[in-house]
Amino acid sequence: MQIESMLDTRDSELAHAFIEAASDALVVVDDRGLILFANASAEALLGHAPTALRGRPVEELVPARFHQHARQRQEYVAAPHPRPMGRGLELYARHADGREIPVDIALTPMTVGGRRLVGCALRDLRGRSHGPEALRIQATALRSAANGIVITDRQGYVTWVNPAACAITGYRAFELIGQHTRILKSGHHDPAFYKAIWDTVTRGETWSGTIVNRRKDGTLYDEEQTIAPVSDEHGWVTHFIAIKQDVTEQRRTQSALAAALAELAARIAEIESLNHRLREQSIRDPLTGLHNRRFLMESAEREVARAARGGQPIAVAVIDLDHFKAVNDGYGHAAGDAVLRHLGNLLRRHVRAADLACRTGGEEFTVVLPGSPLSSALERAEAWRAALAAAPVDVEARAIACTMSVGVALLRPESETFEQCWARADGALYVAKQRGRDRVVAAEG
Ligand code: GH3
Ligand code: MG
Ligand code: MG
Repeated sequence: MQIESMLDTRDSELAHAFIEAASDALVVVDDRGLILFANASAEALLGHAPTALRGRPVEELVPARFHQHARQRQEYVAAPHPRPMGRGLELYARHADGREIPVDIALTPMTVGGRRLVGCALRDLRGRSHGPEALRIQATALRSAANGIVITDRQGYVTWVNPAACAITGYRAFELIGQHTRILKSGHHDPAFYKAIWDTVTRGETWSGTIVNRRKDGTLYDEEQTIAPVSDEHGWVTHFIAIKQDVTEQRRTQSALAAALAELAARIAEIESLNHRLREQSIRDPLTGLHNRRFLMESAEREVARAARGGQPIAVAVIDLDHFKAVNDGYGHAAGDAVLRHLGNLLRRHVRAADLACRTGGEEFTVVLPGSPLSSALERAEAWRAALAAAPVDVEARAIACTMSVGVALLRPESETFEQCWARADGALYVAKQRGRDRVVAAEG
């Protein structure tokens, strides 16, 4: 008897010490919802002294927004055999200062002295990253995201949408939830397109791309989507999350911009080609197609400077047809033109890429010969002269014999300009004419 009573005493002491030391906040509530007992951890968690809680309604520990709590509690205690409710009830408790504290609650029905009581064990969840607090914040973030978000189950049936997704699709949330995402199908893509998406995401990979979808009102829109599979801890895909953005307007703007750019590019090309034609017209002789005097004046100094830089000689040849007046007089002006074209072609065939052949006057031509010392310039001019003299020019079945005279000068880069050199070549041409024409003469020096 004595031993039993000692054991009794030690049991209750042990129980009491254990209850006070437990890390969970422990609260016992009677069938009217009044607090009969709270341990030390309840004080630490909720900020009330244990004795202060005694006799207070348990609803003082519940945030006011859970206004159904009292009714749910009454239903729970009134049930014939209330079941213990284990861990996993993630709720909120109200701290003495009014703060809400995320807690995991386990409820244990007890009968003591014929009265129904409920033991509540509250566990602090504040340190948990996946606690209800974190989930609530994440859910708020998803709800207010500017992008449309649609969550589906593994089969593609919608389980959750945010307001932006509703705004994009034109459906209310309750109209989308429970529906298969094919409700948005536009008919714009072939089955292979959808199969490729489906294959990607069911493999556990993320798909991104643009889909043409159909709104509730039947209109089509371009939607940029990223679809990510959600897998459980075993790697099994349980849900899909689609993040969407209506890019119809953006695409329209882009294609309008592209069209405007193409138009602009065409205009610029037109202007460029016009500019090119005008430029060509301004630097070409229309009769022979050779460059004109203007082009020679523009380019000669550049040629001279380039030759000087490279330490290269540069020669100038001036050509004039002999007795050309007689050609005009004898065969007519048109035949004279044909002879000028003939000489133009002859020069074009004989000059090198670096040479500059121009028609610089009525029947006068100038060729600039970069890289030619006087001897080779004379040789080349002689070749042109011989080529013209070798055979008469055939103009409408009439053979017109023509010769030309050429004056050649080598530029003295230290002491003269191009124009001075050109004038010396012209002087040599005059000498050639005086000496009887049909010849090449070198300028003095
Ligand atoms: P010379 O041997 O001294 O050079 O005698 P020339 O008759 O050729 O004399 P000059 O060089 O002074 O003659 C120029 C002539 O060239 C005058 C003009 O009728 C003719 N001419 C000038 N430009 C053209 C042209 O574009 N077409 C034609 N057909 N003749 C032209
Ligand atoms: Mg002349
Ligand atoms: Mg002449």
